[in-house]
Amino acid sequence: MCAIMSVHRLVCQSCGTGYPLDTREWRCACGGLFDLEPWPRLDPARIDPTQPGLWRYRAWLPLDAGWEPLTLGEGNTPLIPAVWDGQPVWFKLESLSPTGSFKDRGAAVLMTALRGLDIGRVVEDSSGNAGASLAAYTARAGIKCEICVPSTAAGPKIAQMVAHGAEVVQIKGKREYAALAAWAAAAHGAYYASHVYHPYFLAGTATFSYELWEQRREVETMALVFPVGNGTLLLGAYRGFQRLLQAGLISHMPTLCGVQAAACAPIAQAFDRGRSTIEPVAVGETVASGIAIGQPVRGAEVLAAVRATGGAVVRVEEEEINIAHRRLAAQGFFVEETAAAAVAALPRLRERLASVSSMVIALTGHGLKTYRAL
Ligand SMILES: [Zn+2]
Repeated sequence: MCAIMSVHRLVCQSCGTGYPLDTREWRCACGGLFDLEPWPRLDPARIDPTQPGLWRYRAWLPLDAGWEPLTLGEGNTPLIPAVWDGQPVWFKLESLSPTGSFKDRGAAVLMTALRGLDIGRVVEDSSGNAGASLAAYTARAGIKCEICVPSTAAGPKIAQMVAHGAEVVQIKGKREYAALAAWAAAAHGAYYASHVYHPYFLAGTATFSYELWEQRREVETMALVFPVGNGTLLLGAYRGFQRLLQAGLISHMPTLCGVQAAACAPIAQAFDRGRSTIEPVAVGETVASGIAIGQPVRGAEVLAAVRATGGAVVRVEEEEINIAHRRLAAQGFFVEETAAAAVAALPRLRERLASVSSMVIALTGHGLKTYRAL
């Protein structure tokens, strides 16, 4: 079968080698991670207000013109004013995405590209939300999907994958073993639709920034707070704001902050120690299962993004997460514990970031994702 050519290509961040989009390689032969080229210029006149959700930014995404958007209604999540510890904050409700997490931004854009490339079978590894999202979007696209999950993944997330018809392979042991199982499937012909490695996923999460820029034009003076495991929302947001800056649409970058559970905090540890690379850590017990990543692939990129914007990566204890989770629900915000971790860090972040005008916290996942009957 002849390859479907695209004007876009994958380019190694480390050595600059280019690969066609339909390659079965998911990182460069040198070990480097892929970026995408070329990127369109961000022209506000090309925002299309007639299109739903994140597709109003269709012309700002690195997608071929002939590829039809694959959508379940993702993006355009509400930005809600709230009060936390007596201070005004903004919550961005990514929890209201079609499958209940921000991962839908990345999955919609990634699967639009893969359907455009005529990919018939994908594999992914996930601790839950990315797999649930990919399962939904592959179902929508009519693409076969296999998800390798650690056996500790939350039941409702697995239920979503199964409901959408994905083949779910539960892997015992460390989270990394699920990645190894996915790599093995990729070596046998499946396309590795990784939310961590594939740059189209980050192109999708970059729309978080575009929306926030339209929702709050003073976004440059704000601090944005994300729960961070692999950091795919923080990194996408960073890249989105970089493009807004390059286009002259913002005057400087907002402050980006990451929050990790103390039980698994390799990025916070590197931040505290002033390191630029990540030392893997053992994953301890945490209710914030969505960010329990001991060896984040793009951890060094997350560190660099946070430092470049004057932000911080902090850690929170289990009890703090549980208290924030209950207090959010008491205010009407039903989110998973991973999202509550970001809110739990607000007192610590306020001490460090006296100069920011206000804070936006990404409520990344819905409460039903980890719901356990009482
Ligand atoms: Zn390379």
